Amino acid sequence: MALDSWVNESLYSAWGQRFRVKREIARAKSPFQDIAIFESESHGQVLMLDGVVQITERDEFVYQEMLVHVPLVAHGRAERVLIIGAGDGGVLRRVLEHSGVRRAVMVEIDAEVIRLSRQFMPGIGGAAWDDPRAEVIVGDGIAYVADARDGEFDVVIVDSTDPIGVGEVLFTDAFYGHAARVLSPRGVIVNQCGVPFMQAEELTETSRRRAKSFAHVTAYVAAVPTYVGGFMTLGWAAKDVSLARLPVAEIERRAAAAGILGRTRYWSPAVHAAAFQLPPYIAELLPS
Ligand code: SAM
Repeated sequence: MALDSWVNESLYSAWGQRFRVKREIARAKSPFQDIAIFESESHGQVLMLDGVVQITERDEFVYQEMLVHVPLVAHGRAERVLIIGAGDGGVLRRVLEHSGVRRAVMVEIDAEVIRLSRQFMPGIGGAAWDDPRAEVIVGDGIAYVADARDGEFDVVIVDSTDPIGVGEVLFTDAFYGHAARVLSPRGVIVNQCGVPFMQAEELTETSRRRAKSFAHVTAYVAAVPTYVGGFMTLGWAAKDVSLARLPVAEIERRAAAAGILGRTRYWSPAVHAAAFQLPPYIAELLPS
């Protein structure tokens, strides 16, 4: 990805977004991917992996709040959380905002992503890196879940790149089978599942696979400005069907107990409940 006055995202061959660059902050080629952090004129700092937008300073709150607060608030008693990917630290920071969380394990395959995010985008992970409840492991998420104990976690959050390259293993039957095994009886797993307007197959195929290991499979949406193409979907799979159907009042009660009410800019109890109301063009992609 040549950094000139503009950076073009390379996610889609025939369409995409571009950022006017103020300055390049960091570039590295890790054993897994090309890593670029730059200061944009419109969205603050931007992290790109292999030319694909991962997070921007300006809109990361949308994605991170919805990926974290929806499963943890719905679970209601999440104490042990497994995070896979999320090397920028944003998911870890928001998981640790939940007062009931006692242990947050983050497994990121690329140490360079962690190093560069901590050094050049410290606001994303904040103090999470040094929280005594946090355990940051450099490794492959599939290997970690294969070795984890039965019922070891209450929530699994997969904040990975798309199912190509190193991220592919996190969208497989084997991975979801292990995820079901390591989750407690009311366990929930959520994962970034692409933008269905452009990546419909990602939601359909991964939902079909999750359905082999979980009683309830659905998705919920978030409008992340820099995940271009309309709604972003977060894949949802749970052992307890009721968790995706909580009334707003109960969501609010659980969020208050977790200490996150009033600390968010996208997530709210009403947005949480509404996010599961899928437009037909997305609902039709889920297994019936
Ligand atoms: N929010 C972004 C999105 O929706 O595409 C994801 C951001 S996060 C930086 C993605 C991370 O997943 C990357 O740092 C990548 O190294 C990590 N990752 C990819 N495959 C992985 C695997 N098999 N195990 C652990 N981490 C993985």
